[in-house]
Amino acid sequence: MPQKIVCEVCGEVLYKGVDLKPPEEVIQQFGGNCPKCGKKLNFNAEKVEIKGNKK
Ligand SMILES: [Zn+2]
Repeated sequence: MPQKIVCEVCGEVLYKGVDLKPPEEVIQQFGGNCPKCGKKLNFNAEKVEIKGNKK
């Protein structure tokens, strides 16, 4: 079941993959800001959206 982390503002997909990644790591990869809308990323458990494929 893939994990998906999206920007809470614009919906840009910041990370998608089968490995569970800590949001902090994903945020660091983008230098702390959303690459699309520039929103400062400050994820916590409630804001991270994790979606899985349901079949
Ligand atoms: Zn964004």
